[in-house]
Amino acid sequence: MFFSAPSARKSHQKRDKNDRASTRHILLAVAFLFGHSLQAHAEWQYEEHYIFGTSVTIQLWADDSLQGKKAMDAAVSELWRIHNALSPLIDSTELFQLNTNGHPGPVVVSEELAMLLDKSLFYGATSEGAFDITFASLGYLYDYREGKKPTAEEVAKLKSAIDFTKIELNPETREVRFLDPRIKIDLGGIAKGYAVEKIAELLPELGINSATISAGGDSRVIGDKRGQPWIVGIRNPRSEESAIRIPLEDFAISTSGDYERFFIDSETGERIHHIINPSTGKSASDVASVSVIGPSGFETDPLSTTLFVLGREKGLSLIEQFKDYDAIFFDHQGKVHFSSGLMPPE
Ligand code: AMP
Ligand code: MG
Repeated sequence: MFFSAPSARKSHQKRDKNDRASTRHILLAVAFLFGHSLQAHAEWQYEEHYIFGTSVTIQLWADDSLQGKKAMDAAVSELWRIHNALSPLIDSTELFQLNTNGHPGPVVVSEELAMLLDKSLFYGATSEGAFDITFASLGYLYDYREGKKPTAEEVAKLKSAIDFTKIELNPETREVRFLDPRIKIDLGGIAKGYAVEKIAELLPELGINSATISAGGDSRVIGDKRGQPWIVGIRNPRSEESAIRIPLEDFAISTSGDYERFFIDSETGERIHHIINPSTGKSASDVASVSVIGPSGFETDPLSTTLFVLGREKGLSLIEQFKDYDAIFFDHQGKVHFSSGLMPPE
């Protein structure tokens, strides 16, 4: 929007009363607009972007609108930076390079990627292979949008390439080697939780102490909602409704569900979805969804994927080993199961 200035050729003396009145209006309007745009004010800000193949939303409370906008922009560029380092599909990314040259290797990776690999290998070992970033050795043959899955022969051929113990990482030199030429990795089970946690570090440094960030199934709340806890909803996996509402402050929640990316196999009627059980090479099927809550999204994200693969019984016993972390399972009948930290006291 702009205002056209009064004509320069018109002399001041020649102006009639109407002209003077309209000039005054214009000046008042300009003064109001300037005052309005330059004066910082407190407000909620909200943005939605499509990053990591999913909708990412950020809402924040800014005591100063300009500072809020700067913080918002910084958060969005940090998310794109992480995406552009970790996407397995873009050939300039470090991850793509590692997948291409990891065997025989070695490939020297950045500190950030080394740290993500280290954490992924930790969850691989802790879950006895339920969480395994080498799922991608076979996983790349699934296309959920196109309704495509690997043939039985492909599964048989590539299942043994799902094995995180065939990744060698030297934490000192940051050298990585894949001990099998068929190995490919994908950090889809951990990257979004890492990203939301990075934003939870960044925003308070920029003066924002009340915010939420949500990337697909991974959410992190910063502070409280101006004196009230944030209310996070967990949906029933078989309907749009929010089945459980949890008040949270400075906390993370990650949900892994079989409804996020899936198709129904027209031959078998099976639900084929994006979380793969490394021991079968097929979609994990014990539960419909699992949510993990805890202080860090960098843990809740891999934990939710891990627990989904492990299923209810083994998953519940694993989460009990993680202090401050709890889980909520939805089984296929829509029944909810809680870990001990969320049970009402007897
Ligand atoms: P999430 O939605 O956080 O549970 O993560 C699902 C994503 O994790 C998938 O889209 C894959 O990129 C990745 N993934 C699938 N199966 C596994 C697995 N067994 N271990 C680690 N990551 C996996
Ligand atoms: Mg997860």
